[in-house]
Amino acid sequence: MAGRTAYETLTKLSQMGDITLHEPAGDSPQAERKRRSRKQEFNLNDCISHLSTPRGPKAVMKSMMTTACERNCNYCVFRAGRAKTKRVTFQPDEMASAFQTLESSGKVDGLFLSSGIIKGSVTTQDKLIDTADIIRNRQRYRGYIHLKIMPGIEYDQLYRSMQLADRVSVNLEAPTSGRLAALAPKKIFIEELVQMLQWAEQIRREHRDEKLASSVTQFVVGAVGDTDLELLSMSDKLYSQAQLARVYYSAFGPVPGTPFENLPATEAIREFRLYQSSFLLRDYKWDVEELPFLRDGNLRTDVDPKQAWADVNLIHQPVEIMQAEREQLLRVPGIGPIGANAIISARRRGTLSELLHLKQIGIRTPHKLAKYVLLDGRQPAHQLGLF
Ligand code: SF4
Repeated sequence: MAGRTAYETLTKLSQMGDITLHEPAGDSPQAERKRRSRKQEFNLNDCISHLSTPRGPKAVMKSMMTTACERNCNYCVFRAGRAKTKRVTFQPDEMASAFQTLESSGKVDGLFLSSGIIKGSVTTQDKLIDTADIIRNRQRYRGYIHLKIMPGIEYDQLYRSMQLADRVSVNLEAPTSGRLAALAPKKIFIEELVQMLQWAEQIRREHRDEKLASSVTQFVVGAVGDTDLELLSMSDKLYSQAQLARVYYSAFGPVPGTPFENLPATEAIREFRLYQSSFLLRDYKWDVEELPFLRDGNLRTDVDPKQAWADVNLIHQPVEIMQAEREQLLRVPGIGPIGANAIISARRRGTLSELLHLKQIGIRTPHKLAKYVLLDGRQPAHQLGLF
C-alpha cells in the first residue's frame, strides 16, 4: 500500500511537467536554460534539475505546491484563467513524501519548492513552510532546500522559511513599480516584494548566531520596455543594501494563452550580458555608472561589457602588469580574481615581460588582453604565434 501511495504521488509529481522552464534556481542559470530547451514528454525527470548550488553540484527536485494561482501575471504559464494549464495541487505531507521517495532512492539531493498562490500568500506560504518542516524535522533531511517566498507574507513566516531553507527567493520580476504594474498587475512592488528582501536582511542581522537562508531574486527581462540600466541599478541596490546572493535574469518568452502571447521573445544574448554585468557589480565591485550603457539605457549585446569599458578606458591608458593594484588588474578583460592573484604572486618572483609568461601562470587568452596592458613598460605584440 505504501509503495502504491508513493507511486501515485510520483505520478502526480510528473504531471506537473517542467517548472524549470520558468524558474532558474542554481548558480549556472544559463546551463539550466540550455538543458530545458530540449523538448521532452513530461515525466518524472522533468522535476529533477542538475544544479550548481551553494552546497555544490546537486540533482534537485524542483516542484510547486500547486500550479493553480489566483493572480494574473501577464507572462505566466500558471496565471489565473489560463485554460491550457494543467492544475496539480499537493498537500505538505504528500509533497514531503514525494521528496523522501526520490531522496532515499538516490535520485535527488536537494529541493527547490515554489507555488502558485491560492487563498492568499499567507496561507500558501504556510504550506511551503509545513512541507519544509516535515522534511527537516520528521524526515531529518539536512541537505539543500530552496524555498520560494510568496509576495507580502508575514515577517515571522519569512523568518521561519529562512530557518528551514538554505536559500529563499523573492522574485521582484521587474526593476520598478511602473514596470511591475505592466507585468504583474496584482503584485505590489514595495510592500509585497522589496520589503521581503529588506526583511530577509534584517532577520539575518538580528539573528547572527543562527544559520539562515541567503536570498535571491529574479527579473523577467524585456517584456515591458525595462532597460538594462533599470535592471542593473536595482540589482546593484539589492547587492549592497539587501546582501543578495544572486540576481537571476530570465529572458522573456511569450506563453500562448496569456496577454503577452504576441510579444517578441527577448534574445538570450541580452540575458547573458546582464549576467556578465551583474557579476561585475557583485564580484568586482564596479559602480553601476561605470557599465558602458548606450543612450537608450541598454548595453551593447555584441561585446562583453568589461571589454566595451576597456575599449574606451584602457586603450590609451594601458595597465602596467608589473605594478598595477589588484583592482586595476581586475579591470582588464581576461583577468579575473584567480588571474589577478596569479600575476601578483608571479611578479614577486620575477618579471612578466611577455604574453607567454601570462599564459604560463594560467591566463587563458593573453593575446586578448594585449592591447590593454603593458608588460614591464612595453606593449606586447597582439599576435601569439607560439600558441
Ligand atoms: S503569482 Fe506566480 S504563479 Fe501566480 S501568476 Fe504570478 S508569477 Fe504566475
